[in-house]
Amino acid sequence: MTQHPVRKARRAQYALTPTRARLQSLVGGRPRRPRRIAMLSVHTSPLHQPGTGDAGGMNVYIVELAKRLAELDIEVEIFTRAIRSEDAPLVQLAPGVLVRHVTAGPYEGLVKEDLPAQLCAFTHGVLRAEAGHRPGHYDLVHSHYWLSGQVGWLAAERWGVPLVHTMHTMAKVKNAALAEGDTPEPTARVIGETQVVEAADRLIANTAEEAGELSYHYSAREDQLAVVHPGVNLDIFRPGDRAAARARLGLPQDAPVLLFAGRIQPLKAPDVLLRAVAVLLEREPGLRERLVVPVVGGPSGTGLAKPESLHKLAAQLGITDVVRFHPPVGQAELAEWYRAASALVMPSYSESFGLVALEAQACGTPVVAAAVGGLPVAVQGGRTGTLVQGHDPDTWADALHQYATRPELVGQQGAAAARHAAGFGWSTAAAATADVYAGALARQAGRLARSRLRIS
Ligand code: UDP
Repeated sequence: MTQHPVRKARRAQYALTPTRARLQSLVGGRPRRPRRIAMLSVHTSPLHQPGTGDAGGMNVYIVELAKRLAELDIEVEIFTRAIRSEDAPLVQLAPGVLVRHVTAGPYEGLVKEDLPAQLCAFTHGVLRAEAGHRPGHYDLVHSHYWLSGQVGWLAAERWGVPLVHTMHTMAKVKNAALAEGDTPEPTARVIGETQVVEAADRLIANTAEEAGELSYHYSAREDQLAVVHPGVNLDIFRPGDRAAARARLGLPQDAPVLLFAGRIQPLKAPDVLLRAVAVLLEREPGLRERLVVPVVGGPSGTGLAKPESLHKLAAQLGITDVVRFHPPVGQAELAEWYRAASALVMPSYSESFGLVALEAQACGTPVVAAAVGGLPVAVQGGRTGTLVQGHDPDTWADALHQYATRPELVGQQGAAAARHAAGFGWSTAAAATADVYAGALARQAGRLARSRLRIS
């Protein structure tokens, strides 16, 4: 296909002529940070309520990171797919942070699995938005999740800027630890992820373990990888009065409260919590009077196929009197749930980090978590909570028993948890991410300068 002559010239200009600013990072001093970046979040909007459907930790991650980057004078424009006719093309999320709604396919009726067929339309929307500006509008592309990585691959190459990518989850990692009967991620996703890893200048992993998975499963190169721990909003998630939180939520003051918070899907294993609670009550029937197990969140992913299955399981196990289901809530209210709880329980099969673990700890609540993915980084086993090996309900009942019967342990570990979580502010995460951007720009400027020398 013949390339449009003007576009061809423009592309050549960007591919081969480094701007003064881009070259500046080569001539000493601190590497330059970008002024404005395009952040891509194709399948889920930072404006959506997390805790159900496709909205979860990634949405919170993008919102918090973007706000903190803007505070560092890096403007952020987040591109996401419009899913309602009333979605305005441009929305200001915070000073320096814009959300751009891109039309790609019908507003309603598409699920995440349909989106690979809309990537071309989405990319078209992104390129068009950029074409309406002066050349060089974005200094860098940061894509989130493999669908956005596919778009970022093309956009970054077209604009001659670096592509930084964050996976959030990986098909091969998920498939290696599936819950029994859960549906594996398709091969097309594995192929798409592999392409994105190949195309990215830098890959941001949540933990060293995730970086290892990127190189083991996807052959990521050492020089692509950067580890940046996510953060927690310490203004919203902070310790408070447990009694007051319980009073506000209508929970009894003397109840052991074992909380689940997040998207309800087999991967997060809320069923393991329910089974463990059934074992606990069988062993210690006296607990039944007081025990409360709130499940805060809505169905998501493969859990959408059977949204009632957790309710049914509670009925089968005979524990409907202790389990209380609540739809997802905003972050301020979620903080109250954490403060009210004796422990947050996360029996997940796979978790790239597990933001709820940090949030609960920041509120002074210990976490009982599966020893998988990023959770051993988020939770210090024996100090800020308990890390459990495997998913056997008996083992989980042993762990939960401690938190249901030993308020002094809850107090002690809760205090240590708050101190631990205080080290994970989003400002630290944003500063580290900005350094990754600066590194990617410096490296690209080096490449551009070398190719310029070759040409002249
Ligand atoms: N969340 C929320 N309201 C809810 C339940 C969850 O806002 O009712 C948020 C929670 O604060 C957390 C995110 O959803 O930031 C879940 O992130 P996590 O990393 O734990 O899981 P993911 O959804 O990424 O698998």
